[in-house]
Amino acid sequence: KNKLTIRGLTKRYGSATALDRVDLDLVDGEFLTMLGPSGSGKTTLLWAVAGLNDPDGGEIWIDGRDATHVPASGRDIGMVFQNYALFPHMTVRENISFPLEMRKVPAANRPQAIRRALEMIKLEHVGDRYCSQLSGGQQQRIALARAFVANPSIILMDEPLGALDKKLRDHLQLEIKRLHDELATTVLYVTHDQEEAMVMSDRICLMNGGRIEQIGTPDELYFRP
Ligand code: ADP
Ligand code: ADP
Repeated sequence: KNKLTIRGLTKRYGSATALDRVDLDLVDGEFLTMLGPSGSGKTTLLWAVAGLNDPDGGEIWIDGRDATHVPASGRDIGMVFQNYALFPHMTVRENISFPLEMRKVPAANRPQAIRRALEMIKLEHVGDRYCSQLSGGQQQRIALARAFVANPSIILMDEPLGALDKKLRDHLQLEIKRLHDELATTVLYVTHDQEEAMVMSDRICLMNGGRIEQIGTPDELYFRP
């Protein structure tokens, strides 16, 4: 069953074509990574799925429904960015609660969902702290919790480990993999780190010049003679 179906997606900025008739399918539970050089269209594609930019052509279907013209607020999407993008004036608990409020989850049901999310990222003890008081690695785990707490159809991640040092990156790669396995969620992940893509992905799609050049499992793309 497809979580995401993209057909002929095109996005231009002036005379530059950021996405050139992209077709892509994501099946339920899949971890798919977009890998490619800077400027190849990865972020533009992610933003299009989130409804944060307006494509010039093509279609985006989420959960079997045409979402092409659905605004971001009407799409069932969680998102993680490189720079965490947490609300600094809110506590950890309030940050994680935000998507639940947006989705109108009843207030009585929120504490349990938040507690479970904090357990999953092993940060039960920092719920009442402000995000600005926490380390980069902790903040990115909270950003992960905020992305999955409302159980969205698809989680989009745009180089979520790009701002972290190597040791933390390796650790959080495994953490994200574990969360993906435990939650059986569907992830569309962006990186320009080939090793990271190899370790984490069910399938990798190689982007270049606004097109998908190749798509396949890590083995298919890198270990074929
Ligand atoms: P990537 O994420 O792979 O680095 P992007 O999706 O950010 O690539 O960019 C794809 C192309 O679109 C690049 O040529 C980039 O300069 C251009 N682009 C992206 N966003 C904008 C924008 N807001 N205005 C103009 N050009 C943009
Ligand atoms: P990345 O390479 O990590 O995708 P960029 O540094 O290319 O990110 O882009 C960061 C932001 O700047 C994005 O919001 C993107 O849409 C915008 N942007 C990228 N290229 C251009 C451009 N040529 N003109 C205007 N905005 C751009």
